[in-house]
Parts: sequence; C-alpha cells; structure tokens
Amino acid sequence: MIRKFFAVLTFSALISCGNNADSTQNQTSEATKTNTEQPTFGIVIHGGAGTILKKNMTDSLETAYKEILEKAIRVGHKILEDGGDAMDAVTATINVMEDSPLFNAGKGAVFTHEETNELDASVMDGKTLNAGAVAGVTRIKNPIDLAREVMDNSDHVMLAGKGAEIFAETRGIALVDPEYFFTERRYNSLLRIKEQQKTQLDHDEKTAFVDPFIKDSKFGTVGCAALDKNGNLAAGTSTGGMTNKRWNRIGDAPIIGAGTYANNASCAVSSTGWGEYFIRAMVAHDISALMEYKGMSVQDAARTVIHDKVGGLGGDGGIVAIDKDGNVAMEFNTAGMYRAHMNANGDLVIGIYENQQ
Ligand code: ASP
Repeated sequence: MIRKFFAVLTFSALISCGNNADSTQNQTSEATKTNTEQPTFGIVIHGGAGTILKKNMTDSLETAYKEILEKAIRVGHKILEDGGDAMDAVTATINVMEDSPLFNAGKGAVFTHEETNELDASVMDGKTLNAGAVAGVTRIKNPIDLAREVMDNSDHVMLAGKGAEIFAETRGIALVDPEYFFTERRYNSLLRIKEQQKTQLDHDEKTAFVDPFIKDSKFGTVGCAALDKNGNLAAGTSTGGMTNKRWNRIGDAPIIGAGTYANNASCAVSSTGWGEYFIRAMVAHDISALMEYKGMSVQDAARTVIHDKVGGLGGDGGIVAIDKDGNVAMEFNTAGMYRAHMNANGDLVIGIYENQQ
C-alpha cells in the first residue's frame, strides 16, 4: 500500500543534526521538498562519536573516512531505492563499514586489555519488533550478520561468546581466525592507553579498577537506521566496544533499547558513545518512547535524550535516527561523529565534526 507521503526532507531536519551545518555533498538548498506520488525512504549512518577534531586529522584520513561513509550509505540507499527491505539495507550498509579497518567494528575492532578482540552487534525490525544481538564474539567476521541470524533463525534475542559462535557455525555464518582483527592502529591505541594508565596508577593505587582514560577509549562503532518504501523501519549497530576493556565487558551496542531500537510507530535508532551511560539512559528506546507517547519529533526526542539525559548523567556520544516519515536526526554531544544521510531524492549529507564546513 502506498503510504501517505509527507515532506521528504526538511532542511530544518538537517541543520538540527547536532548543530552540524556540516561538510555536505549535493545538499539541497530548498527549504522543503515534497513529492506526492512516490513513497518516501531514507537511510542514515554513523561511524562512531568522540573527540574527533579536525586538528588531529590528516587530509588523507578525512578523505578516506568520507569515501567509506559514502560507499556504505550508497549500498543501503540502492537497496531501498530498488524497493528492498530496510533490514537488508541496514545489514548491507553495516557490512561495508565492518569490512573497513577505519571503524571500530568487524575488521577494525579495538583491542581488549588481554589483546584480544570481542565484538558486539544488534539489529531490530520496526515492523515486527523482532530483534537479534550477539555479544563478546571473537571469530565472527561480520557480527551484524550473526545478530540478524539470531533474530531470523533462533528462538532468542541475544547470544554471547562461544555459544554464539557455535550457533554461527551451524548457520553458515562467516568465521575468521581472531588474527583477522589485528590492525596496527588499534593495537597501538591499546598500548598507548595501557601506558597512560600505568603512569596514572603509579600515582594512585585506589583507582586500580577505574580507567581514567575510558572516555577516550571508544571510537568508531558503526550503525545504521533505515526507512524503506513500505514504511518499515530497521536499525543495527556493530562495535568492538572500548579499547582496553576487561572482564568480558559489554556495552550498549548489543542491548536492544540502548544501542539499537526500531518501531514502525516511531523511529529507528542506532547509538554510539560511552556504553555504560547509554545502557543506563536506555537511549534508543527513550527516543522512540518520547515520540510514541509524547508526540515529539525525532530531532527533539534525540536532542532531549543525548543532551539532557546522557549529558546530564555525565556521558557522551550520539545517535542517528530516522522516523516513519523520513525525517532524520544525527545528534551528538561530542566533538564529532562520523555520519551520513541520504534521502529519497538521493541528496547526500556527510559530516565528521560539529560545525565543520
Ligand atoms: N558504545 C560502544 C560501547 O560502549 C562504544 C562506541 O560507540 O564507541 O561499547
């Protein structure tokens, strides 16, 4: 059934995204675009939020990030344009970012304290409210695919560790040797954080189990939220978690309602940031609930949760979200968030820093 069509993309939706009148490509200059014939669709992605400053970025690295963000979002956009499912667009888009060493997900996952990689992911389907998640997997090439497999072909919502990998083997999900996740950049980050921590701990033994560098030990989680032409919403998130994490720590990314949420009645959301705060604030579900029960717009709901709630607790990070009418939010309270959005017209917006031009 053709859905009643509203404004496809409002310029105000774009500029409300984390105050990010940002690096744009093909950005529309029209205040509002309407299309009364075609059903709308759209896709929005993030590649992590954090202390991402232009002064710390080389031109070539910035270009590399923008290229992979564009490549990933175009994959999902094509699926949606061709009439495909939001969930297929989400997983295919995330696969591109998981396969890139640039992001803290799949190939580029960060290292644990023990110099291993433990990956988390989740997906949610807004039509059925079905969901799937995996936590602490060490041999899954694309954890988002396993999360989807849990949703589609198991009786469960979340599987963890070795059990999740046994399930993956029975379902033909691609496994890799843990060595696959070695990247020099992430390994050096671990060494750097351990060194900083050692210096700090020498001064104060009491902080032995509190990592003073935890705030800067997470970057590059990936996520996607999509609306398809049938009016279905879906979201997914994939991460390596936090550098130097211990004790099988699990963050928000595989927690439905914290890292990922989708409901056709409201919106689809993927989170990135300091996971402990995102779990406590139930960020993704809260945004949906503010829309569903209070009638807030996706941008207002996202702003409220990221700035007032997460920020109020002392946490940091961001979200991307899309609502059932194709409006998007890309909200964050950090210095930057890798992000991109494409609407039904094919207008592409890519951003990294807060107010970068
Ligand atoms: N939210 C992730 C975690 O806490 C990290 C991130 O998004 O950067 O595991």
